[in-house]
Amino acid sequence: MAKEELECSFCGRKKPETSLLIAGLDAHICDRCIEQAHGIVIEESKQSDNSELSAELMLRKPKEIKAFLDEYIIGQEYTKRVMSVAVYNHYKRLLQPPSDDDIEIQKSNIIMVGQTGTGKTLMAKTIAKMLNVPLAIVDATVLTEAGYVGEDVESILTRLLQAADYNLEKAERGIVFIDEIDKIARKSDNPSITRDVSGEGVQQALLKLLEGTVVNVPPKGGRKHPDQKFIEVNTEHILFIAGGAFDGIERVITKRLNMQAIGYSSINSDDAIDDDNILQYIIPKDLKDFGLIPEIIGRLPVLTHMDPLDANTLRAILTEPKNAIIKQYKKLFLMDEVQFTITEGALNYIVGKAIEYKLGARGLRSLCEEIFTEAMFELPGSGETKFNVTKTYAEDRLSKSTLKKLKAVS
Ligand code: ADP
Repeated sequence: MAKEELECSFCGRKKPETSLLIAGLDAHICDRCIEQAHGIVIEESKQSDNSELSAELMLRKPKEIKAFLDEYIIGQEYTKRVMSVAVYNHYKRLLQPPSDDDIEIQKSNIIMVGQTGTGKTLMAKTIAKMLNVPLAIVDATVLTEAGYVGEDVESILTRLLQAADYNLEKAERGIVFIDEIDKIARKSDNPSITRDVSGEGVQQALLKLLEGTVVNVPPKGGRKHPDQKFIEVNTEHILFIAGGAFDGIERVITKRLNMQAIGYSSINSDDAIDDDNILQYIIPKDLKDFGLIPEIIGRLPVLTHMDPLDANTLRAILTEPKNAIIKQYKKLFLMDEVQFTITEGALNYIVGKAIEYKLGARGLRSLCEEIFTEAMFELPGSGETKFNVTKTYAEDRLSKSTLKKLKAVS
């Protein structure tokens, strides 16, 4: 065939009409057809991705979601049940074909109230892992109103896009965990008369995202790249989970409970208030009294609380979850052919110290590091095949380590 007669076997364009003609075994393809074919491939793979997602999600009923959470999270029974239902409803709504009745199922965004280190982030991470959807974890404290120093609220979606490898469709079905939501509460006694940069303005800005809207998102985030093209992200199907410690909210709840007791004598001696876990009585009004604006509370309709971690829970966290801390150390030592064992006495000792220093579940990890580091340094390559940690050994290591350092954290 003469050179000028070459043509694209797909669209028939002659070689001079194309910018590029690639030869195959006995066919040719031009640049335009390549582009078109590429588009089809992307579209197809997106569709199969989505049907995979649908199939997986529809298979999981609330009880199954809860069973999955049980594998990773100790205790927090109430929140696990509430989350299972909220997540199930959220994705059920999302996967439902549009119907012609007027019943529109609203989003079930969630707000979790609980002390730091009680597993709020873990809860969001585990849900995302189970659903295999992208998760963005953002800290509300860095958010400011547009125009101020700090991150715009849209940056939340930049993170989600990044977590989804810029697959827009995946991002639009993802989960955003907004940590420290309590830090943007309106402070009624704010001495600044000019502005409340990190407070109400941010809450207002968040509202739009929470309710579902199309947002222009800078894919690289920030204001450092002024030339970047925006990506339009629809937040309608994104599940927002907010979390916060709400330090001091117990006072608000107690006050309300006491007022109720006086007003309607609704709390009688049969259902006495459990002072060790005041958060369990939380209602949306308490969030309002704390400084969240009613519109935000309305858009986070599922309110739940985390129980404080007692000794039994901390003890279980050490060994029971699928990726429990002690299991991780066992695995690490095994890689050096060292059999790692730890006595019940040592485990209880670690729990006791975590409580003593008010380190919560997060402290378990730092305590273990303090106790095991010496062995992790000495044992590899030493020919030693066994490492048994007793209470005495743990005490000894901790007394030698920088205990002050741990105390400083509390
Ligand atoms: P929060 O977000 O509430 O501050 P995190 O979820 O970050 O707390 O928890 C800190 C660490 O403590 C987690 O990495 C996890 O290993 C552990 N942890 C906390 N609560 C639990 C729990 N209920 N079950 C298992 N592990 C927990």
